[in-house]
Amino acid sequence: LNAVMNNGPLREAYNRCLPKLTRYATEIGQNESLFRAFEAVAEDRDVSDPARRAVLEHALREFRLSGVALPGEQKTRFREVMERLSSLQAHFEENVLDATNAWSRHILKAGDLKGLPEGVLDRAREAAEAKDLKGWLFNLDFPTFHAVQTQAHHRGLREDFYRAWSTRASDEGPDAGRWDNSEVMTEILALRSEAAGLLGFDSFAEYSLARKMAGSVSQVIDFLEDLVAQCRPAAEAELAEVRDLAGHDLEAWDVSYYSEQLREKRFSMSQEDLRPYFPVDKVLEGMFETARRLFGISIRSGEPVGAWHPDVRYYQVDDQEGPRGGFYVDLFARAHKRGGAWMDECIGRAKLDSIDDLPVAMLVCNFMPPSGDRPGLLTHHEVVTLFHEFGHTLHHLLTRVPYPRVAGINGVAWDACELPSQFMENFTWRPEVLPMISGHHVTGEPLPEEMLQRLIESRKFQAARLMIRQLELALFDFRLHSAGKGLSRAEIDQTLAQIRSQVAVIRYPEFTRPGHSFSHIFGGGYAAGYYSYKWAEVLSADAFSAFEDAGIFDQDTGIRFLTSILEVGGSVPAADAFVAFRGRAPSPRPLLRLSGIAA
Ligand code: ZN
Repeated sequence: LNAVMNNGPLREAYNRCLPKLTRYATEIGQNESLFRAFEAVAEDRDVSDPARRAVLEHALREFRLSGVALPGEQKTRFREVMERLSSLQAHFEENVLDATNAWSRHILKAGDLKGLPEGVLDRAREAAEAKDLKGWLFNLDFPTFHAVQTQAHHRGLREDFYRAWSTRASDEGPDAGRWDNSEVMTEILALRSEAAGLLGFDSFAEYSLARKMAGSVSQVIDFLEDLVAQCRPAAEAELAEVRDLAGHDLEAWDVSYYSEQLREKRFSMSQEDLRPYFPVDKVLEGMFETARRLFGISIRSGEPVGAWHPDVRYYQVDDQEGPRGGFYVDLFARAHKRGGAWMDECIGRAKLDSIDDLPVAMLVCNFMPPSGDRPGLLTHHEVVTLFHEFGHTLHHLLTRVPYPRVAGINGVAWDACELPSQFMENFTWRPEVLPMISGHHVTGEPLPEEMLQRLIESRKFQAARLMIRQLELALFDFRLHSAGKGLSRAEIDQTLAQIRSQVAVIRYPEFTRPGHSFSHIFGGGYAAGYYSYKWAEVLSADAFSAFEDAGIFDQDTGIRFLTSILEVGGSVPAADAFVAFRGRAPSPRPLLRLSGIAA
């Protein structure tokens, strides 16, 4: 609720509870009697069931990572550090949210808005009317920011939005210093480093890897740098094409715009041209059908019990034997809702003695809401996002593991968590699937064959440049956390500058402060873990290549993916689950091939 219906009292209650919950978790984690009891069970009993064994192993690992074995004073200090970190992280997110909400741009001249799609203009006009203003009022939500960056012809407008977006919650930009996260960031890094040190790790990155599939700090750095080496020449060539089209040097707020122009020139098609073909209901219907063919499950509407907003829907999932679980869907952007898209668990799978709980999930996005007679319409990019979150949802819902600690997404190595989600994305690019998920919102006709072919080709468009962007962020995160000590603001800036000079292909302005709104690593659980997206993308592309080989809806392959990966949750180490499905260790080749970087 704090994320989807944010308001003063709720935020206050949330912040009051957060330290208590953290303290509770830390106290349980540091409870020596419990730790000894788990140890005794692990030593005395022959636990042959792999899921039970995983529960024990994970519990013992978590005890150690919670500082259970620390001497008294250090144990107390560790607890203090963890509590302080959780409120600092929440504070970081608040600053980002407040800074984003505070900025808006009021425009009176229609001429300044050339190029912007109708949907964005309608919303801006409605926003202005709601405040008794003439003209258009634009907020800084991601769909608006993205539309301006990719489509607004007015260069100054793009620059204004870029400046506001890339300096949020920092010491730069239009609201410089007002919600500045600088001190929050340095304190977070110092405390994380201290916590890792107390447990005997060299750095927070090393501590973070204790829960991951990747084996060591150097393995992650090598993995990222190897991909940089493979992608950078292609990324430079892609940027040169954009520059050629523009006919001048590119500022940061020009790149997305001319890149979109190049895409339109090459494919005669924009994301906005695709939007009418992807009404939300049609996409959901086709997505559910895809899941039915792959995994033999059916999905139907149910009553949204306890829904938090009229937009929220509920779906029930069954297989041939009966119910498997259900999920809430909350698709549209609105005020006081956290940006981005995510899946979270509502109820976890549990079958223990008298308990028999089926899993319930929630799938949340920030798509452009319906307006007037027009239903919610998605760009293909948003369709990909929806399939992504649906992949997480299936991972949570289809588990067969009866023990909550390792059921569904729980207990899965962090860097393998994005395997099912990114795996599902691949289906949105297939000629077998596109006709199932598309239907023009007026005529009902599926995406015309010729547009479909161009869309599929467009997947490789500027793919190396986008990959480089992700690798920059992943290296920034990992380097910040592998320093082995806290970093000053100057050192954070230096780290960023160094990565940009070695990795980035576009020239970023001095004023940008990407770290200050990097919620993944400072607000949430992706600290020293942002690389996981690429890591899991390699796994997911490789897993998907099994379907390319066998047939996109091949049922044996689908069932093997279901039983080796989705159903086992965290009860099997991620590397073993992958090998069980694919018959070998993962390879980066399929990802480079799908992205058009390797032949
Ligand atoms: Zn994800």
